[in-house]
Amino acid sequence: MINIALISHDGKKPEMVSFVVANSSFLKDCKIYATGTTGGLIKKEGFNVESLLSGPLGGDAQIAALLATEQVDLVIFFRDPMDKHPHEPDVQMLMRLCDVHNVPLATNPKAAHYLLKGIEAYLKTEK
Ligand code: PGA
Repeated sequence: MINIALISHDGKKPEMVSFVVANSSFLKDCKIYATGTTGGLIKKEGFNVESLLSGPLGGDAQIAALLATEQVDLVIFFRDPMDKHPHEPDVQMLMRLCDVHNVPLATNPKAAHYLLKGIEAYLKTEK
């Protein structure tokens, strides 16, 4: 099973909801971790989600800890580059740890789309 972390800044939450709905057949088979507010929105769409703290309260840091201990296989983080975030140090730390631990990270919907397509194709070759 794929363990996936979903995070979205406030300005990108509508895009995250659209993304999970559009990719529901893949995501229904994944274990989903999410930051608090993002997770609440995804749950409303009928997904099982393990919601962590809200991002500004430490949710990004919790996800960083999970990926550093091999409990998260990929991260989809729709960042809002047009807004300021009090927890920017946590965001930088999360992205750094993705690179330290070679965990795929998509920060916008098109990158996330291609990442999921790539993983689907990879999983088919493994069967
Ligand atoms: P949220 O956190 O899902 O609780 O809004 C996301 C973030 O801002 O990192």
